[in-house]
Amino acid sequence: MSEPSHLSGPVTDGPADPEHDATAAYGLDRSYVAGLTRRVVSTTGETHAVASPIGGTPLAHVPQSSPADVAEAFVRARRAQAAWAATPVDHRAATLLRLHDILLDRQDELIDLVVWESGKARKDAYLEVAHVALTARYYARTAHQHLDTQRVGGMFPVLTRAEVHRVPKGVVGIISPWNYPLTMALCDGLPALLAGNAVVAKPDAQTMLTALLAAQLLDEAGFPPELWQVVAGPGPEVGGAIVGHADYICFTGSTATGRKIAQGCADRLIGCSLELGGKNPMLVLRDADVQRAAEGAVRAVFSNAGQLCVSMERLFVADQVYDRFVDAFVSRTRAMTLGASHDWSVDMGSLISQAQLDTVTAHVADAVAKGATVLTGGTHRPELGPFVFEPTILEGVSADMECFGKETFGPVVSLYRFHSEDEAIERANDGQYGLNASVYTRDADRGRAIARRIKCGTVNVNEAYGATFGSLGAPMGGMRESGMGRRQGVEGIHRYTEAQSVATQRLVPIAPMFGMSEETNAKVLTASLRLLNKLGRA
Ligand code: NAD
Repeated sequence: MSEPSHLSGPVTDGPADPEHDATAAYGLDRSYVAGLTRRVVSTTGETHAVASPIGGTPLAHVPQSSPADVAEAFVRARRAQAAWAATPVDHRAATLLRLHDILLDRQDELIDLVVWESGKARKDAYLEVAHVALTARYYARTAHQHLDTQRVGGMFPVLTRAEVHRVPKGVVGIISPWNYPLTMALCDGLPALLAGNAVVAKPDAQTMLTALLAAQLLDEAGFPPELWQVVAGPGPEVGGAIVGHADYICFTGSTATGRKIAQGCADRLIGCSLELGGKNPMLVLRDADVQRAAEGAVRAVFSNAGQLCVSMERLFVADQVYDRFVDAFVSRTRAMTLGASHDWSVDMGSLISQAQLDTVTAHVADAVAKGATVLTGGTHRPELGPFVFEPTILEGVSADMECFGKETFGPVVSLYRFHSEDEAIERANDGQYGLNASVYTRDADRGRAIARRIKCGTVNVNEAYGATFGSLGAPMGGMRESGMGRRQGVEGIHRYTEAQSVATQRLVPIAPMFGMSEETNAKVLTASLRLLNKLGRA
């Protein structure tokens, strides 16, 4: 395992002192870790160990929050939000742009921590930095477009002036998963801050340090420290308390938990956005460039070891190119470098935990036991890292197998041959999910036409997921049980605002005038409505 110089040092048994362990094993010195964990709102005196899937020993012991700590976090956040909402939008946008530069400047430190916490390949960790920077820049540069007061047509031209203000919701609760520790910690919060909100964040317990470093970078960029509160602890207890206090919830995670969050939000009549699971399909049409599709499929399926909400777990390939595509896809997959390491050369890293490894192993074993064929992969590789599992391609998967319709969330894909495009679209639309899809074809117009028939929130033509995910102006989210609401684009920021309409009536009231009867008024109004329609008014 090669490591950057500032993270050198062997993994040792070390002394009992946990912070000393982290220094010896990961090069994270005591004051650095303490500086990060101090940001958690906690009075419990309890801590939870964040273990590294690479080193095995704890990276840090993170203070845990109680429901009372969550309540205190909301008090602090509300205090900060009132002052923040009064700052000019230009000031908030400039702060985001400073964050953009800090993220790029501090990328090595961020990537190191993400890799230690998640075990992912360094290139996958880098994409997190890039995506958060893109998000910061996009929202900073479009702040006025999304947040300025808009004049809209009033009831009567000249007489009625109507305008719509964007009012911050207040304090947004953000509950996030572990798979993209930096992206999930920050991306959804940036538009919330820009719109004048405060945030109480509960990152996943497995990736707290990255989330805490992200909070520190927000402070350094110039956001008031109380504006972004971090709490830690078990999802049902701490996440539940957040739902109990927030003005809006942004949740990313499994469909099962999303359902519970939605119920909690319904009880309090607050809004929520839910970014949930998927069983994403990729279609390789008969006219696809087979090599390009195979290269794309490797990224589509095995990026982040498949622990990516938008990664592909079902691959539908046209009869005419099936054999050539499978040869290319399998040989590219066999050529991948695996490992749990900080090295840039690793193509696919580790799974994050034993729980992830158990699910992946169980899905593959179940498929094989019921008759599926493993074209490549299928094996746990503990000699490379405790949770490393080979990139795996299955053929002959049928509806009775676990991996047919359930999300594996690991490096496993099922290949299916199709004979007609109508059939492929129908099979792609099968099941309860509708997050992301991909279509490979030499005819981009046809690809886009097919995309319109796929029931997914994002569809990429001749790309896996990056084309939509990296286009920050394009909303991203799921149809059906893959979610509600959208991140990115105008939807990604307007979800954190209330639309407030203010209309001012000039000169005459919207009522009968000059002693006019109701009947005459109705006739005058009808004539006005006809005239406005003739004039083409909205
Ligand atoms: P999860 O639902 O178990 O946990 C996600 C977060 O919710 C964690 O912070 C957890 O502590 C918290 N939580 C758990 N139970 C809770 C409860 N009852 N109340 C409040 N909070 C609770 O999800 P996971 O399995 O850790 O993450 C993987 C899932 O996330 C996959 O299904 C994946 O597809 C999905 N995901 C979706 C997107 C997207 O953008 N659509 C992005 C990343 C991950």
